[in-house]
Amino acid sequence: MSVDRRTFLKGAAVASVAAVAPAGIVAGSAARSTPAWHRTACTFCGVGCSLLVAVQDGRAVAAKGDTDSPVNRGLGCVKGYHAIQTLYGRDRITRPLVRRNGVLVETDLDTAWDAIAARLRETVARHGADAAGLYGSGQWSVVDAYIAAKLFKAGIGTNNIDTSVRLRHAAAATALASTYGLDGAPGCHEDIEHADVFVLWSHNMAETDPVLFSRLLERRRTHAGVRIIDVGTRTTRTSYAADRSLQYAPLAEIPLANAICHELVRRRAHNASFVARHVAFARATASAGDDDISGETSHPVDWAEYVRFLEQWSPDRVAALTGVAAEDIRWLASLYGDRTRRVLTTWDSELNRHHRGAWANNVLHNIHLLTGKVSSPGNGAFCCTGQPNGADSLHAAGASPDGLPGGSAHAAVDRGRAARVWGVAEERISTRRGRTATGLFRGIIDGSIRFLWVQAANPLVNLAGADRYQAALRSQDIFLVVTDAYPTATTAMADVVLPAALWLEREGVYGSSERRSQYVPRLVQAPGSARPDGWHTIEVARRAGYGELFPWNEAMYVTEAWREMERFESGLPGMAQLRAGSGILSPANGAEGTSWRFNPAHDAAADRRRGDFDFYGNADHRARIWLRPHEPPPESPDARFPLWLSTGAVLEHAGTGTLTRRIPVLQRAAPHAWVELNESDARDLGVRNGERVRVSTRRGAIDVQARIDHRTQPPVGQIFVPAFDEAVPIQRLMPDVVCPLSGQPASGKCAARVERIV
Ligand code: SF4
Repeated sequence: MSVDRRTFLKGAAVASVAAVAPAGIVAGSAARSTPAWHRTACTFCGVGCSLLVAVQDGRAVAAKGDTDSPVNRGLGCVKGYHAIQTLYGRDRITRPLVRRNGVLVETDLDTAWDAIAARLRETVARHGADAAGLYGSGQWSVVDAYIAAKLFKAGIGTNNIDTSVRLRHAAAATALASTYGLDGAPGCHEDIEHADVFVLWSHNMAETDPVLFSRLLERRRTHAGVRIIDVGTRTTRTSYAADRSLQYAPLAEIPLANAICHELVRRRAHNASFVARHVAFARATASAGDDDISGETSHPVDWAEYVRFLEQWSPDRVAALTGVAAEDIRWLASLYGDRTRRVLTTWDSELNRHHRGAWANNVLHNIHLLTGKVSSPGNGAFCCTGQPNGADSLHAAGASPDGLPGGSAHAAVDRGRAARVWGVAEERISTRRGRTATGLFRGIIDGSIRFLWVQAANPLVNLAGADRYQAALRSQDIFLVVTDAYPTATTAMADVVLPAALWLEREGVYGSSERRSQYVPRLVQAPGSARPDGWHTIEVARRAGYGELFPWNEAMYVTEAWREMERFESGLPGMAQLRAGSGILSPANGAEGTSWRFNPAHDAAADRRRGDFDFYGNADHRARIWLRPHEPPPESPDARFPLWLSTGAVLEHAGTGTLTRRIPVLQRAAPHAWVELNESDARDLGVRNGERVRVSTRRGAIDVQARIDHRTQPPVGQIFVPAFDEAVPIQRLMPDVVCPLSGQPASGKCAARVERIV
């Protein structure tokens, strides 16, 4: 209870890293020139910390937290402090590679760009525009995303573009759009400084969003009565710091949230006035199918029907489904319903990676809409995006299968605007549904995708069923281009590898989970032929015949592209505004930014005449409470696979570890993935701590070291494997199932077994 934020972060660093250099200590000899400090943003995760980076003799030599930043206030986590070392890994890709006689060999940029452009032209001519696709990344700058979207939508004429954000945040964005009509969070990180109760749902915030968690701890330390409640499927570092920890059965979020709503209504603890003025109710009649994110049809229902729907979700019945005692469900409902307390609910991709991820998000919003605890300081339901650009940034860039910058490829008005800004015929912009992340890769199996460009991502490690995609790439005539800074399992399969400039080597803008856009300057020279993803895209576009779309030079293209994005009227701050500070919360609304959307006291777009809230994202200016049923998981433990396997992130690594594994202290702290077992299960299986075991699912097996009651503690019948290690590609063993509304892979949990390796 007495842990403060600085102590927490220090403890997290010490626990993980054997020898961490103190932040801000400048390496190098005294004979060198004086280091100059520059402000930038950390782009590892969606928290969006501001960092100060020292550059000396053309090298980044130190990093520390920016004390002026409202996000991290001078602190950082172990990834941020050591981020500069990602630039200097020994195996950095500095030259383009092309495959000749089955082997990747070095070449020059012109040869590589020409080869890609020729194959792109040929693919489109022979198989049509929809045979080409691009898979980008949350680690992209927003400008990289915009340029890629412009090439594919205005040039090639296909919507086949998606990003790795689909794997983490799509369920959250889809639910925000269905609830509020807009895909950015209503609230912001400052909610932490106002909340009285934090309910963290399947959110190991201590490891996945450590700087935000330090703010929670500080809020509790300095304000009597503030409580942190952990509601998850296993005991984590977050659970240890929480005031109370409740565990529920895997994938049981929907009945649990419905039971809380049932109890709120039963004891009349809901906010009837707010509901009457600002909420409408909806029930889905049908949703689109697999890899189809075109939405669902629904019909409005009234309060009485919603109450009838909730009748089936009594705490007593739900206790049996979820494993949470009925009195604990009632207690949670009493916290949410207490009118004297402000409540902030948070979660992250661990909850989103659900076969009904969008529904699981909807029901958390339902609790807050029922109590009126939304979009005001300290009140809200907030999904931490994990990656940068997970909130509304990629929407602003148009880098999605159904998007255009600030709009939709399926809306005539948005297509017309895009055609005007881009100077192309409106017919050029396809109305055909684009492929999601999973759809792009399934397309290389059935031959409908013939040209695929992967930028700043490693999908052949973290997509379910990736071994099938590798087999297709080996056996079929599919051209794979990969832009990355280090060798990965995905670059190994490429026909052409382009060397990517990294953070600090390229200028850009990144969005955080709270809708904060931050400018990241170019501070050092990229090595060899490395270029930003966006510039590689422009060079290929010019050679493929789409040069008129990009009349920009290498020095100015980021500024020019951003200026063009502003013409889409998506509330973007100006570049000068971004360069001047630690970021702006979109929509920009002048210099202020928007902290709490839909709240006229904080959001210039909200109409005060509508009262204390104006949910203007929906045509009727009302937020939606959705009636969401429980749908059993696609697979559950059985006699052959008796355990629940969960996957997730750890403090030291980001994504598949492509960058963090090049940071020596982090790699030493967590060199390999492991499987965590409960002590009782380990005893039954005869498994000792540290022993190598085989983890199998219905799709395959991997060998990995066992850790018993390690940093997190799965309950009996569950195991956990972190997903950062290319050598332990656990995500490949997950079911190839997606949430039908959001297209987000349901790759968080499945049935598994553990065996000793004899
Ligand atoms: S919390 Fe996220 S943004 Fe902040 S320093 Fe750590 S990795 Fe970077």
